[in-house]
Amino acid sequence: MAPLDAIARTSLLTAALRAEETERPDRLYQDPLAARLVGALGGDLLGQVADASGPRDTDPGQGDPGQGDPGQGDSGQGDSGQKVPSTVDFNAIRTRYFDDYLLTQVKDGGYPQVVMVAAGMDTRAYRLPWPRAIELFELDRPGVLEAKESALGDEPVHQRVTRRPIGVDLLGPDWMDALVTAGYRPEEPSLWLLEGLLYYLTDDETRQLLSRVADLTAPGSRIAADMVGATTLTAPAVAPLLQVFERLGCPWLSGHDEPEALFAEYGIEAEAVQPGEESAHYGRWPDPVHPRHVPDVERVFLVHGVRK
Ligand code: SAM
Repeated sequence: MAPLDAIARTSLLTAALRAEETERPDRLYQDPLAARLVGALGGDLLGQVADASGPRDTDPGQGDPGQGDPGQGDSGQGDSGQKVPSTVDFNAIRTRYFDDYLLTQVKDGGYPQVVMVAAGMDTRAYRLPWPRAIELFELDRPGVLEAKESALGDEPVHQRVTRRPIGVDLLGPDWMDALVTAGYRPEEPSLWLLEGLLYYLTDDETRQLLSRVADLTAPGSRIAADMVGATTLTAPAVAPLLQVFERLGCPWLSGHDEPEALFAEYGIEAEAVQPGEESAHYGRWPDPVHPRHVPDVERVFLVHGVRK
C-alpha cells in the first residue's frame, strides 16, 4: 500500500477526532468505525492539534448541552485558557451539521447521487440511516481509500447505499472522467460535500475545484463545504494551530471571508453559517461568535448552496 502524504494523513486526524467524540457521553454523533481507522498516527496528530488549540476543560461531564448561548460575543469561557478556536468542538459540530444536512437533503430532495469529495476516513456510507436509496461516490487519493478498505474489511455499508470509491488526484485533470466512468450521471441532481479540504488548497485550486463541481452538477444540485475566513490565516490567536499543520507538511493555504460571493461565481447560491450560530451550536461551541459585519476576526464557515 502506498504511503500516505501529509495531506492524506489528515484523514487519520479526522478519524481520531471522530473516535474520540464517539466516546464522549455528550457526543454529537456516533461513528463506531472511526476507532478502526485512526491507525498509529491518528492519535499522535490529534495530540498535536488538541495541544495547539488548548488547554481547555475537556471534561464532558461539566458541559451542559442544550443550554449553550448561541453566542453573540461572549463565550463565558474567558478563564478556560483557550488559545484558539477549538478544533475538537469544531470537528464535532461540523460532522453533526453535515450528517443532518445530508440526511435532510436526501429525504426531502430525493437526491439519488451523493459525492464525497476528499472522503478520507468518512464512514457516512456505513453509519448514517439513509432514508432513500443512494449511490455514494467517495473521491480521495488511492492510498487513502485502500487504507480505509483494508481497515474496514467487509464491513457492510447501509442497506440503501451503493458505495463507489474512486482513487484520484482532485487537482489533476482526470477525476471528473473517473467519476463518470464509475457511474455518476452529471445530468441528474446530486448532493456534494467538500469537508475538511478547501483550506489545504490554494485560492486557484479552490476555484478550479468549484468550477469543475459546477460543470458536473445539474441545476438544483446541492453543494456543501467547510472553509476558513481569510483572516484566520494571519490571526495571532490561530498561529499555534497553523504552525502545527505547517510542521506536518500540509499548511493551510487559503481562506475566504465571503463564501457566498465565492460560491456565486460558480453558479451556486449559498449560505454560510458559523459554528456557534443557532443552527450550528448543538450546545457545544465555546467561543465568541462574531457577527459577519465585524472585520478582521478569525472565522470558520459551514457553507451549503444550490446549483442554479
Ligand atoms: N472529508 C473527510 C472527512 O471529513 O473525514 C476527510 C478530510 S481530511 C482532513 C482531508 C482529505 O483530503 C484527505 O483524505 C486527503 O487525502 C484529501 N485530499 C487532499 N488533497 C487531495 C487531492 N489533491 N486529491 C485527492 N484527495 C485529496
